[in-house]
Amino acid sequence: MSLHTAATDKNVLERYMTLPLDTKVMLEYIWIDGTGEGVRSKCRTLDFEPKSPKDCPIWNYDGSSTYQAEGSNSDMYLHPVAIFRDPFRRDPNKLVLCEVFKYNKKPAETNQRKTCNEVMEQAKDKKPWFGIEQEYTLLDTDGHPFGWPKNGFPGPQGPYYCGVGANKVYGRDIIEAHYRACLYAGVKIAGCNAEVMPAQWEFQVGPCEGIDMGDHLWIGRYLLHRVAEDFGVVVTLDPKPIEGDWNGAGAHCNYSTLQMREDGGIKYIEDAIEKLSKHHVRHIKAYDPKEGKDNERRLTGFHETSSIHDFSAGIANRGASIRIPRQVAEEKKGYLEDRRPSSNCDPYAVTEVIVRTTCFD
Ligand code: ADP
Ligand code: MN
Ligand code: MN
Ligand code: MN
Repeated sequence: MSLHTAATDKNVLERYMTLPLDTKVMLEYIWIDGTGEGVRSKCRTLDFEPKSPKDCPIWNYDGSSTYQAEGSNSDMYLHPVAIFRDPFRRDPNKLVLCEVFKYNKKPAETNQRKTCNEVMEQAKDKKPWFGIEQEYTLLDTDGHPFGWPKNGFPGPQGPYYCGVGANKVYGRDIIEAHYRACLYAGVKIAGCNAEVMPAQWEFQVGPCEGIDMGDHLWIGRYLLHRVAEDFGVVVTLDPKPIEGDWNGAGAHCNYSTLQMREDGGIKYIEDAIEKLSKHHVRHIKAYDPKEGKDNERRLTGFHETSSIHDFSAGIANRGASIRIPRQVAEEKKGYLEDRRPSSNCDPYAVTEVIVRTTCFD
């Protein structure tokens, strides 16, 4: 028995999921909606299996229903930019990530990929790598944290991070299913762990070079929402879902260039931190969809965060804006971790501003 009122029987669905489709292929087109945080998708048929996004036709949708356009001029265009395997419908069906353009062929306000891609092209020789740690929280369909008592709170934080046991972690089935869905799809998932607040989890994507970071993270998020939907559970990327003595959720962005990864690269890491220190406000604006308003609730200086108002950096310091991992300091090469991005950040905006600040003079 499911508590989820709109649940259907997945065993019945299986009869249809195994029907042969002959040469037809189902393509799920995926895009970012007007909130800059929500993902939307719709499906169409193709007569052959696409090998690249160029094989997938340009399509459109009703932008007035996604907070993106007026009803009187509502057509928005979907330009396929990356394809992944579809772990729900399986091969040869595809997930098709799209950029959104307006009726006048200009990028939609929420299309941050276009300029990100241009900057990544300019910085190509530096071989910028990223790894993002996506934190998120599971909720019941009524908005209550998944597994939390309905009339109170779980015990204080302490036993939950990387926890084991039915009294410490809630929803592991979802995390396991999502991990495998990512691997099947071709999303470069690197790992996962239970977080400090119960019902909060993290998955890491990377290292990815250039524009791949945003592409892979957005598909990783799409898969997470879809997998959780199957279990009747909701995923929120809100950076501070529960007020009080509970950790918020971030999207730490780990970053390196080829120079930083080579012997003696610590010099280039320090140069980058020096440049980052001069552009704190610009970065905070790019690190959540509300230009800092969302992150304000999270970056308090408590709960393993730095204050939103100050820039700081330190070795192994989880209360700093930028952390140099201990191992990187010892080996004198590697990467830095920018701990400021909010869990609901747009990775295209985050990676673009990092490269803009650190790669050009
Ligand atoms: P933390 O100790 O902060 O919890 P995690 O292990 O969760 O760190 O995540 C580290 C991330 O850093 C991973 O996504 C990994 O892919 C990424 N990463 C590792 N090396 C590099 C590198 N040289 N450049 C950029 N990202 C890297
Ligand atoms: Mn982590
Ligand atoms: Mn974490
Ligand atoms: Mn981290």
